[in-house]
Amino acid sequence: MTRIGVAIDAPQYAGMSSLLTYESEQPLVPGTLARVPLGRREVTGLVWDADFAAIDAAAAGTPPMTLRPVIEAISALPPLPADWRALVEFTARYYQRSLGEVALAVLPPELRKLDDTAIAKRVKKKRDHLLPEAVGASAQRPELTAEQAAAMDTLAAWAAEPAPPPTLLFGVTGSGKTEVYLRLAEQALAAGKQALILVPEINLTPQLEQRFAARFPGRRLVSLHSALTPAQRLQHWLSAHLGEADLVLGTRLAIFASLPRLGLVVVDEEHDPSYKQQDGARYSARDLAVYRGHLARVPVLLGSATPSLETWSHAQTGRYRQVTLSERVGQGALPTVRLLDMATVPRAAPRAPPQALAPQLVAAIQARVARGEQSLLFLNRRGFAPVLHCPACTWKSGCPHCSAWRVFHKGERILRCHHCGTQEPVPRACPDCGNLDIEPMGRGTERLEEQVAELLPGARVLRIDADTTRAKGTLEAQLAAVHEGVVDVLVGTQMVTKGHDFRRVTLVAAVNPDSALFAADFRAPERLFALLMQAGGRAGRDAGIAGGSEMWVQTYNPGHALFEALKKHDFAAFATTQLAERESAGLPPYSHLALLRAEARTEDVAEAFLRAARDLARTYPEAADVMFYAPVPPSVAKVAGFERRQMLVECASRATLQRLLALFTPELPALKNAHRGIVRWAIDVDPLGI
Ligand code: ADP
Ligand code: ZN
Ligand code: ZN
Repeated sequence: MTRIGVAIDAPQYAGMSSLLTYESEQPLVPGTLARVPLGRREVTGLVWDADFAAIDAAAAGTPPMTLRPVIEAISALPPLPADWRALVEFTARYYQRSLGEVALAVLPPELRKLDDTAIAKRVKKKRDHLLPEAVGASAQRPELTAEQAAAMDTLAAWAAEPAPPPTLLFGVTGSGKTEVYLRLAEQALAAGKQALILVPEINLTPQLEQRFAARFPGRRLVSLHSALTPAQRLQHWLSAHLGEADLVLGTRLAIFASLPRLGLVVVDEEHDPSYKQQDGARYSARDLAVYRGHLARVPVLLGSATPSLETWSHAQTGRYRQVTLSERVGQGALPTVRLLDMATVPRAAPRAPPQALAPQLVAAIQARVARGEQSLLFLNRRGFAPVLHCPACTWKSGCPHCSAWRVFHKGERILRCHHCGTQEPVPRACPDCGNLDIEPMGRGTERLEEQVAELLPGARVLRIDADTTRAKGTLEAQLAAVHEGVVDVLVGTQMVTKGHDFRRVTLVAAVNPDSALFAADFRAPERLFALLMQAGGRAGRDAGIAGGSEMWVQTYNPGHALFEALKKHDFAAFATTQLAERESAGLPPYSHLALLRAEARTEDVAEAFLRAARDLARTYPEAADVMFYAPVPPSVAKVAGFERRQMLVECASRATLQRLLALFTPELPALKNAHRGIVRWAIDVDPLGI
């Protein structure tokens, strides 16, 4: 009998590991899936490299334990390779989760359900279905622009280095970054390697999939994202793991694809917040991509027109390399930015709410409609109005379970809380005073759509947001309608601002972007700037359409520095100012953060837990260099009946912060038990939203 270490899906406690010891008649290779007994259950775990010398030393003096045998090794599945295991180990360590939790959470869920025979069948089926997948019509390979060609020469030379450093591809919107990804993938595939391409949004995968499929006829391409069925996800994952897929395209979870022949990692729109996982192991797929490239010694390309300030500063200091595409393909010019001072726009009555769109903007859109061009209006708020209120008393449509308003959805005739999902029919009269005239306050995309239709009679208006795209296939159909030109004015949330190559859009307007200027989160300006640059990037992509393209910004703060930089399309200037502010305030990337969150029925319990965690952390000498902020409520403090509090932990040294977190986080489960009433706690390393 041999001893075997098996990682299982269990949290880590002080003195308790997610790596358990079993015995087996056969030695089992690390990375092998195995069914093992756990208490009275039978679970799937992963055989891991266990340090038995250390385990024996720790157990010295205690009576030997009787080990339970492994039930079954899944021999049909080739073991997960060493670099994949190293990535999982790093993720667990860095984001303070147990090894087993990460290892099993990032595998396709189906793998945990099936036994050896069932998996053997899937693997065989995968092999049999290889040929039909490898289809796709060949597409034209455009001649590279001079800038693209120069970038490719540089990137190809760097890719040939034994340990290529990560590279930022800083390219304005429409500069042809995707073409560079395609060419690099071409080179990787020609060298017999696999390429991994990450995109931020599921809704961008079909578009990119088409482009790649068309360029690589006869090659195998699979996608990995959360909208796949469990069976599809398993098949695609297997295809990558068995080394049969040449191209893997996916959202953040695809960073954990097992790729035995990995030769290239691309992270498109690397600044996008959706690369950060928001529960479980709160990893950043962008940062893990960099680590994975380092492990596998393969090039990692981070593409963006508005890089994250972390990436930008790494490129500035030489930690990352950089190539730049400063011009749009085919002389398409970036849109002229027009700041529209909303304070000067007349209102219907002195105390009336501001109009949805200023008359100048309406006229400009009208002109585009008349010319057969498209306009895109974006507003980051869905629903008809964010709140209903009663003018006769003080009633507002608050959510009984959250510190948030319930949003008025006019079409559905409901009030819905976007935080806990509670919904109910719109009341006929004010629940407090019986007044029949309750009114919507503020504006969401649904109301904007209605108002645009009134302001522009005859124009074909389409709204795209999370509400209009719930049914499968609707988003594809709506985007197709925009591409076909049967839409004049597109109204939407940030969903429509990212990545799409709309050829006929010549006017983009940010309807109400001001709130982000004054948000408490220090990353709000960075996010707003990126969003506006990306939105503007949808305009004027086709130089063949005569007349300049425009980006309108309706604001009460036309003099704001952020808008000044936007006017000049000057990301570098914006980044320099922001970085200087971050440096003087000691914020990332000049310091490192972790956020400890707690949820309880009452705020006192949540706060007491956080303070106790802080006191516990302070018993370690590492805490001397670490700053603990006071526990505070997040922007929405109460959700679904639970009070949330969070405590920011900051340190100038990443290594010190990591050491401290590793020391005290394993003690938090015991602390949770001591603080009765705490329902959940979580640690978020490198948090994005604070
Ligand atoms: P980005 O990702 O930088 O915003 P895209 O890769 O979407 O830009 O390219 C913008 C448009 O230019 C696309 O329609 C693309 O097909 C086209 N394009 C890119 N490179 C070339 C090229 N070398 N020649 C002709 N068209 C190109
Ligand atoms: Zn009332
Ligand atoms: Zn709610």
